[in-house]
Amino acid sequence: MICERPGAGAPSGSPAPTLSSMRPHANADRSRHRILVVEDDATIGRHLESGLRGNGYTPTWSRTGSAALAEAARTPYDVLLLDLGLPDMDGLDVARTLRARHPDLLIVVLTARTDDIDVIAGLDAGADDYLVKPFSLTVLLARLRAHLRRRVVATPPQEPVRLADLVLDAVARRCTLHDQDVELRPKEFDLLAVLTRHAGEAVSRESLMAEVWDENWFGSTKTLDVTMAGLRRRLAQAAATSARPSSLPRITTLRGHGYRLEH
Ligand code: CA
Repeated sequence: MICERPGAGAPSGSPAPTLSSMRPHANADRSRHRILVVEDDATIGRHLESGLRGNGYTPTWSRTGSAALAEAARTPYDVLLLDLGLPDMDGLDVARTLRARHPDLLIVVLTARTDDIDVIAGLDAGADDYLVKPFSLTVLLARLRAHLRRRVVATPPQEPVRLADLVLDAVARRCTLHDQDVELRPKEFDLLAVLTRHAGEAVSRESLMAEVWDENWFGSTKTLDVTMAGLRRRLAQAAATSARPSSLPRITTLRGHGYRLEH
């Protein structure tokens, strides 16, 4: 358990992790998620930093509110884990400031305060969720997975994306090369759409399986190889039969990991 002080007696307000939040596929691509941990307690800060890193996230630990604001101005973060009791300023002010500057930031408040009023104030200040200390790392990780998974689903790109001469319109489900439709099978399209959404980033096989096929997927990724081969073949065919010279985005195979769609 992660407590404010060893033996601190705050009641546990955290539900047990559910089975659905512990699905194996949730290992996918967490290293892409940068987490800013704001915590003045050295024991808790160290524990969070090593626990998050050990579970594939990229954490940065700030010990004060002002250090956290400066760090968040320098580097884009996906998640803010915010202790409310900070030495230099109220954590609620940190939440308010960063919520105003970064509307997409996932803010999870970590608090030893147990009064409902404090929880409400945290949510009013822009927090998405809260955990009352002491809480277990397992519960924190499960909450993060659930939030981040919903976020991926909730934010499909609305605008057509151009990659080299290829244009992918995820909303219209159209893929075109020089305004000519490229006929893709549904899963080939989905695969290209996920890679496009993460253009320039390494996307793991597990993450692709989870996003394209089944969020409950756990097992062989053979079907991914077959679909990827089909996608590459159809794109190459479209370029070869195009009336104009065409350049395609490159899909790099990352051995032992997954794929990366190059910008
Ligand atoms: Ca504190």
